[in-house]
Amino acid sequence: MNIVVCIKQVPDTNEVRIDPKTGTLIREGVPSIMNPDDKNALEEALAIKDNHGAHVTVITMGPPQAKNALIEAIAMGADEAVLITDRVFAGADTLATSYALSGALKKLDYDIVFAGRQAIDGDTAQVGPEIAEHLELPQVTYVEKVEEVGEGYIKVRRAWEDGYEIIKVKTPALLTAIKELNIPRYMHMSKIFGAFDKEIKVWTADDIEIDKSLLGLNGSPTRVMKSATKEAKGSGELVVKPVKEAVEYTVSKLIENHYI
Ligand code: FAD
Repeated sequence: MNIVVCIKQVPDTNEVRIDPKTGTLIREGVPSIMNPDDKNALEEALAIKDNHGAHVTVITMGPPQAKNALIEAIAMGADEAVLITDRVFAGADTLATSYALSGALKKLDYDIVFAGRQAIDGDTAQVGPEIAEHLELPQVTYVEKVEEVGEGYIKVRRAWEDGYEIIKVKTPALLTAIKELNIPRYMHMSKIFGAFDKEIKVWTADDIEIDKSLLGLNGSPTRVMKSATKEAKGSGELVVKPVKEAVEYTVSKLIENHYI
C-alpha cells in the first residue's frame, strides 16, 4: 500500500504577526512547525504502515525551508519526501496550491492521500478537498478513526459536531485528519540522525505536468484584501472562592452577560 501525506509548514501561532503596511503575515524570522492536523495525518499513515505494511511519502509545497517539516516527518518514520518549490508557485491561493500539489501527486503512486483538515495559518480547510476534486478521488473529511483497512477500501469514522458516521470508501481516496484521530508519535532518536542524510526529492514546476497559467498568483481567483489580528479582550477577572461559590458566581456572570 502506498500512502502520501500532504504536510504544510506553518508559522508557530504563538508568534504570528501581521505587517501593518501590507496586511500580510510576517513569515521571516518566525519559528515554523509542522501543521498540527498534518501530524495526525502522518501518525495515522505510520500506524497503517506498522499494522499492515505501507510505503509512506510526505509532500509539501513551499519555500526551500519547508524541507525542515519533511525532515521531521522522516524522523517520525516516513519513507520518502518530496518538496515542490518554485518561484511560479508564489502568491498561490488554495486553488492554485491544490492544483500544484495534485500535479505532483500524479507522479506518485498512492492508495490513500492524507491531508490535515485545516492549516492553522490559512485556516480554510479547502486544500484537501480541492486535491480530491483535481484528482477525481472520493474523499472523506474530518476523519477521527480508521476502523478497517482492506483490499481496495478503507473504513473510517467521520466526526460530526454531535455524532459520527462510518464510511467505507474505495481506494484510492483522500482523507482529511482531525486531532481526535490519534496522538502523534515523537521523532525517533535513531531516525533523527538518518533523516538529515535522506534524499529529499525537489521538484520545480518544470518537473510536474501542469498548466503554468493556473499556478501562483496568476492562477489564484482569490485575493486577500486585508488581514488583521484581534485586539486582546482584556485581562479577565480572577475569582478566588470555595468551589461551589466560584461556580455559582461564574454561572451568574454568564447569565448576566447573556452567554447562557
Ligand atoms: P488548508 O486548506 O486549511 O489546509 C488543509 C490541508 O491541506 C493541510 O492540513 C495540509 O495537509 C494540506 N496543505 C495545505 N497547504 C499545503 C502545502 N503548501 N503543502 C502541502 N500540503 C498542504 N501562502 C504562502 O505561503 N505564500 C504566498 O505567497 C501566498 N500567497 C497567497 C495569495 C493569495 C491571494 C491567497 C488567497 C493566499 C496566499 N497564500 C500564500 C496562502 C496559501 O494560499 C495557503 O496557505 C495555502 O493555499 C493553503 O491554504 P490553507 O492554509 O487554508 O490550508
